[in-house]
Amino acid sequence: MQYKVHSLVAKNLIKKCSTFRVHFNINIPCFIVTIKTLCTKKSRIDKNKQKFYNKTGDNMKRQILHVDVNNAFLSWTAIDMLKKGSKIDIREIPAIIGGDESKRSGIVLAKSMKAKECGIKTADTIYQAKMKCPGLQIFSSNFQIYKENSNKLYKLLLEYTDKIERFSIDECFLDMTHYLMNDTLLNKGKEINKRVKEELGFTVNVGVAHNKLLAKMASDFTKPDRVHTLWEEEIPTKMWPLPISELFMLGKKTVPKLYNMQIKTIGDLAQTNKETLSKKFGKHGTMMWEYANGIDNSEVKYKPEKPKGIGNSITLPQDISEIEKLQEILLSISDQVAYRLRKEKMYANVVNVQLRTKNFLDTSHQKKLPEPTASTKEIYTVAKQILQEMYRKGTPIRLIGLRVDNLTDKEKRQEQISLFDNLENTNKNKENKEKQKRLDETIDKLKEKYGNNLITRAGKMQVEDFVKFKK
Ligand SMILES: [Mg+2]
Repeated sequence: MQYKVHSLVAKNLIKKCSTFRVHFNINIPCFIVTIKTLCTKKSRIDKNKQKFYNKTGDNMKRQILHVDVNNAFLSWTAIDMLKKGSKIDIREIPAIIGGDESKRSGIVLAKSMKAKECGIKTADTIYQAKMKCPGLQIFSSNFQIYKENSNKLYKLLLEYTDKIERFSIDECFLDMTHYLMNDTLLNKGKEINKRVKEELGFTVNVGVAHNKLLAKMASDFTKPDRVHTLWEEEIPTKMWPLPISELFMLGKKTVPKLYNMQIKTIGDLAQTNKETLSKKFGKHGTMMWEYANGIDNSEVKYKPEKPKGIGNSITLPQDISEIEKLQEILLSISDQVAYRLRKEKMYANVVNVQLRTKNFLDTSHQKKLPEPTASTKEIYTVAKQILQEMYRKGTPIRLIGLRVDNLTDKEKRQEQISLFDNLENTNKNKENKEKQKRLDETIDKLKEKYGNNLITRAGKMQVEDFVKFKK
């Protein structure tokens, strides 16, 4: 069933239906509502329950991801070498990243899987490593490359949430609690894992859990390129059998002391009396008991900062060579980017469109907007122009992206009325812009309430099945 309705009617219909989709037609200001099934009593109760949970907050579990780059220094060096024309991928041979051998810093900082198979460990001396593996290739560290790749990862993760803690150069915690938008935490974790590999060329482990500790423990399970969950109910099977030395934040000096108390696994520690531990180890004892039981209430420590630019890109499930389809996808991305812009209360001055061909050829063009804006329609109009100018007919496209830059927090709309302008036209224009603004606001509210993937613009109905919003 499809209805073309006024926004108030759309709201009422939504209340009465359990499965629905609202499209907003960008050219004719109206909503198109598609209803699949009517609400049952049960789902109404569930919705109320959910509302209650969201309101109280206490009952809403935190949704945390921990993203950890596999063999970061070695992978990042490998990518850099390949980019510069190297024929060898050092991830595929026995190789290490090591400090200067002649100095005391001559130790193994990172190792390839083949080097690991030879028994080489992180922090071995280079001499030891060479003894273990005679054909070993040694490469020096380059922090500039590490920083660049770390920033690329951070930028990609910012498409999922603004609450990111950079725990180290190759590890981040993501607070996804209010950023799931109808998707599951596990799906988001899998998507990040896939996108990092495809778009940045290195692999990550992702830990999926309800707090930082469990997410961190989960990302440390089997490596590389894996996504692991560690829900509360999985603690006894996945975490407790692990040796005590694997518990996060447990110092090397503490391990033998615990061994003396016959505490050898994380499970042993979890079942030890809490008071006994705090008497022996003080505050640290309480903390290790809590960690062993999966308790951690620490927050993801992020730095709230105003973004300099906002963007998103989509790797298409199959190459597309029709400009009409590319325009539809561009509308989806414009919609999401503009929504995030409005959430930040920022206005864009520049629009940039990026295309990647089937053969991994990247091109991007940008255009200045006539005036700072956060309107989906205005951003899309310019993006569409750029696409038309840069796209060579028939070229198969594998990735399309849009980015807005030179952001400002002031609207700075100068209502310049030229002497030659017809006053009536100017007023009409102003009125249209106001109308557009109100519509954007209404859609944003609906999105926040019902999720991004349910509220889509009518122009992109065809592509929505494979174009999912990031948040
Ligand atoms: Mg790592």
